[in-house]
Amino acid sequence: MKSQYQPFENAKAVIRKAADALHLPEETYRFLFCPERELTVSLPVKMDDGRTEIFSGYRVQHSSVLGPCKGGIRFHPDTNMEEVKALSCWMTLKCSVAGLPFGGGKGGITVDPSGLSEAEKERLTRAYARAIAPIVGETRDVPAPDVNTNGQIMTWFYEEYSQTVGKDCPAVVTGKPIEKGGSLGRSEATGRGVWLICAELMKSLGKELRGARVAIQGNGNVGGMTAKFLSEAGSKIVALSDVSGALFCPDGLDIAKIHECSLSHRLLSTLDLPGATFVPGDEGNRMLLEADADLLIPAAMENQITAENAARIRAPYIVEAANGPTTVEADAILDAAGKIVVPDILANSGGVTVSYFEWKQNMEQERWTLEEVNDRLYTMITGAFATVWQTAKEYRCSLRTAAYMAAIQRIINAE
Ligand code: NAD
Repeated sequence: MKSQYQPFENAKAVIRKAADALHLPEETYRFLFCPERELTVSLPVKMDDGRTEIFSGYRVQHSSVLGPCKGGIRFHPDTNMEEVKALSCWMTLKCSVAGLPFGGGKGGITVDPSGLSEAEKERLTRAYARAIAPIVGETRDVPAPDVNTNGQIMTWFYEEYSQTVGKDCPAVVTGKPIEKGGSLGRSEATGRGVWLICAELMKSLGKELRGARVAIQGNGNVGGMTAKFLSEAGSKIVALSDVSGALFCPDGLDIAKIHECSLSHRLLSTLDLPGATFVPGDEGNRMLLEADADLLIPAAMENQITAENAARIRAPYIVEAANGPTTVEADAILDAAGKIVVPDILANSGGVTVSYFEWKQNMEQERWTLEEVNDRLYTMITGAFATVWQTAKEYRCSLRTAAYMAAIQRIINAE
């Protein structure tokens, strides 16, 4: 299986546009792609059968201009230095547009974690933490979970790093379980952020979110939470999908019931919802993307809106909750058709924003209530949206170009 995220080709094309609009000199444009530091490590790990296997690990610090580098650690068989470099650049832009005091970083290990026992995974994580300890740290570079990594892996990393440097350092990673110093509100933060972005978008357009018809691709952490918050805000979720297919209901799906079932990891294909129609597999997902809705929210995976289907998208507003759901070619088609697209680096930045809150709480030895977390998320994400909206108006460009311009401008101002 190919690695899930491939946002760099898309990002590169937009960075070019944004750099041109900002009249950046060519060397500044090229500089945006040059990481500050790249580290490759070899990780000998004792396997359960007594063999020692050697894995390759990477950590790239793309930019610390705005603050400590921030970005996930992925475990994937396709992970390599080029991919990690590209994703670290993308994190720099994402943290910048979100208004966070963080630069961008990324890390990974070339491994198929499904072939490892829990004990092997723990030894691998601890070996990686020891190997990259000299360059990470709460004021230098703060990893987080990414593809195939989770709160348990972050806990092992935090413990091993703390042992290596000889002091307790919970702020060295985010995405920890609550009892290990994680933040309240993190698990729903990305979906909450997507909902807030939808609300700001509709307000800026002079439209109502209440009653808006919404199609959401993906019913996982991001899509499921987005559906929940939007439905509680009075929007009608007319279509919702997962890997099994898509559910449709022109009057709005019963999201509370779907959410309840999703907690036990049930696929949409197994639900019996009166008034809803289920279309299985890829056909359901194709129909969802082309549904008659006001808002389309791709919240599943990359490269879903392509040159092949972009012209058939009917929703006038698209909010990219997934990373890289729209290809460069599709973006041009949507733009020419007058669609308004809120780009991923802004739309799904609620997650990294609450990761920043986790780091801040750890650094200051504080514990924020859920209300405090949510209030601060509201302030940050609505502020980021306002900056991008204003930039798009001023430069008469798409929200995507504007988001990249705002991100790049902030980095340049800080240098
Ligand atoms: P998840 O694994 O919890 O959920 C993914 C959902 O997509 C599931 O409902 C799955 O069934 C569905 N799906 C998978 N393949 C599909 C297919 N071929 N067609 C239709 N649906 C399919 O993942 P998530 O955490 O919700 O992440 C979704 C996207 O959001 C990813 O692009 C991720 O990078 C991005 N993202 C996540 C976070 C976060 O905090 N979780 C933050 C920023 C961005």
